[in-house]
Amino acid sequence: MSKIAFIGLGNMGGPMARNLLRHHQQVTVFDLVPEAVKSLVDAGANGAQTPQEAIADADVVISMLPAASHVKSLYLGNDGLISTVSQTTLLIDCSTIDAQSARQVGSAAADAGVSFIDAPVSGGVAGAAAGTLTFIMGGAENDVARAREVLQFMGANMFHAGELGAGQIAKLCNNMLLSVLMAGTSETLQLAIANGLDPKVMSDIMLQSSGCNWTLQKYNPCPGVMDNAPASNHYAGGFMVKLMNKDLTLAMEAAAQVGAATPMTATAQSLYRLHQQGNGNDVKDFSSIFELFK
Ligand code: NAD
Repeated sequence: MSKIAFIGLGNMGGPMARNLLRHHQQVTVFDLVPEAVKSLVDAGANGAQTPQEAIADADVVISMLPAASHVKSLYLGNDGLISTVSQTTLLIDCSTIDAQSARQVGSAAADAGVSFIDAPVSGGVAGAAAGTLTFIMGGAENDVARAREVLQFMGANMFHAGELGAGQIAKLCNNMLLSVLMAGTSETLQLAIANGLDPKVMSDIMLQSSGCNWTLQKYNPCPGVMDNAPASNHYAGGFMVKLMNKDLTLAMEAAAQVGAATPMTATAQSLYRLHQQGNGNDVKDFSSIFELFK
């Protein structure tokens, strides 16, 4: 049994930490939102008042935070975890952030003699709840091997993409494609509906045809087509539009750094930005882009 500190108990971190508890790990949790901590304590975790309290005695620290600014403020600086954590503790950041920030945190950790890897995930809230996430890791081989022992309790697939930051690049590449697939699937289903077709029948047709893709298989954007998709729950509780826009900005920055042409992602980014301007859309699930094509 490992002693695990889990920091960031939102849509993803909450169910991930629960899976660690289900596998009888000793988990201490921290989040800025007290209700999120309480919910995990009720499920069997130890609650901490500060991140420092959470990591005391931890073998492994896992963070699942919204963006790079949160990750850097957690780990770096005089108050950051790297300045106090034991050298035997492995730090695993599962947030989706830019590769440069991941390398910055990793290099500060290395200077302090502490191991750090980036391990962003794919699979959404449903994958987090089911323990079937895909972990995409960047870092040293021995640290990745150590991380697998704990990440296996939350995921079904684990990849070592390369050096520190490589996990983040791979994750951004995946999400830029996801944004395009979701926008394209939404556009297509709305056209079918406008022409009098049943979106469920249209989805079934595409699932058996060349337009088949992950959004149709797991995450249909049209309300009522798929019971457990965020679309059938008022677009609540999934991957927020503002987080997709964050990832698209990171992907476009990564493309600019190497001079890559990304016209599909640029179009998807404009669509998601336009969508986010709608009242309350920033916190809706990203599949609500479907409403933009109505
Ligand atoms: P979320 O906003 O639901 O959760 C983030 C949590 O972090 C919140 O509970 C917040 O209170 C907490 N938090 C913020 N700053 C903190 C701090 N300094 N200390 C402790 N807690 C802090 O976001 P999410 O959907 O869980 O996403 C988390 C990360 O996972 C993001 O980087 C996102 O891009 C990525 N991701 C999300 C999904 C998804 O489907 N939601 C899928 C894959 C990857």
